[in-house]
Amino acid sequence: MGETLAGAALIDGKAFAETLRARVGAAAGAFAQATGRKPGLAVVLVGEDPASQVYVGAKGKACAAAGMASFEHRLPADTSEAALLSLVERLNQDEAVDGILVQLPLPAHLDEQAIIAAIHPDKDVDGFHVINAGRLAVGQEGFVPCTPLGCIMLLKDRLGDLSGLEAVVIGRSNIVGKPMAQLLTDANATVTIAHSRTKNLPEVVRRADIVVAAVGRPEMVKADWIKPGATVIDVGINRLPPEEGKPRGRLVGDVAFAEVAGVAGAITPVPGGVGPMTIAVLLRNTLVAAHTHAGLPAPEGL
Ligand code: NDP
Repeated sequence: MGETLAGAALIDGKAFAETLRARVGAAAGAFAQATGRKPGLAVVLVGEDPASQVYVGAKGKACAAAGMASFEHRLPADTSEAALLSLVERLNQDEAVDGILVQLPLPAHLDEQAIIAAIHPDKDVDGFHVINAGRLAVGQEGFVPCTPLGCIMLLKDRLGDLSGLEAVVIGRSNIVGKPMAQLLTDANATVTIAHSRTKNLPEVVRRADIVVAAVGRPEMVKADWIKPGATVIDVGINRLPPEEGKPRGRLVGDVAFAEVAGVAGAITPVPGGVGPMTIAVLLRNTLVAAHTHAGLPAPEGL
């Protein structure tokens, strides 16, 4: 945080994620001392989706940097469901593996829900298994999806107590919108979930002290949707068409950053806001899984 824009403070997710990764790294070192092995994350990639390859590579590097073991399984695009299920089962049984992540999306012939359901809930560091979704829904300890958990960490760091604040979450996906709304409810905010059928969306968003945009529509949220002083968390990652003479288009969020920064009290940039938090929280979840797996109490302050 710190840098001030036209009105809004910049919520520096990259800097926050670095401090979280450093804390996880220190705790991973202590875990290795205590148990004689590093916390281990298995990442499974099926096929050659270029974005997924980048994410999987980044996760492997982040694990190594935090003193964790990373086990990468890259499978061909035509891998059968039976072969993938049997790999997941092997990883469930593998004592060196604390967390299992199957990179989504999977090729169309594979049933994502069936694959996620096969991961042992205590190794489900992405928090996508229905058992973990259920635990979050009823307020039990469990794994929470990394992106919304990263967002709530940024919000609590920025605002402290969220009690009584009006929050509007735009988007209701299982991996971002819904768990985000639950985390905000648990933090005693008054939460509205908006989606593609919401009427008068700008009016709904204008009520909010906290806006979380997780839509996948470039720069949809405009300055006149924002209550002055509101805190804006932009989850969206969208690539614009390339400008003339440029090989790739710019990355933008779901929020029209330049104009909203003139009205909001604080805002996350894209890139450098929520994105870096997602991997840092994945490491954090893997560390927690390792402690549970080893029968140790969860590390504090993470
Ligand atoms: P989904 O496509 O699964 O969900 C999008 C949600 O937005 C849906 O609930 C949809 O409503 C809603 N929506 C779509 N159009 C509108 C509209 N015009 N007005 C209001 N709501 C609308 O996306 P995800 O939740 O997976 O991801 C959202 C964004 O976050 C994407 O840009 C994605 O790339 C990014 N992302 C970023 C991550 C990070 O690490 N920073 C991690 C995960 C995602 P309905 O349900 O009615 O269809």
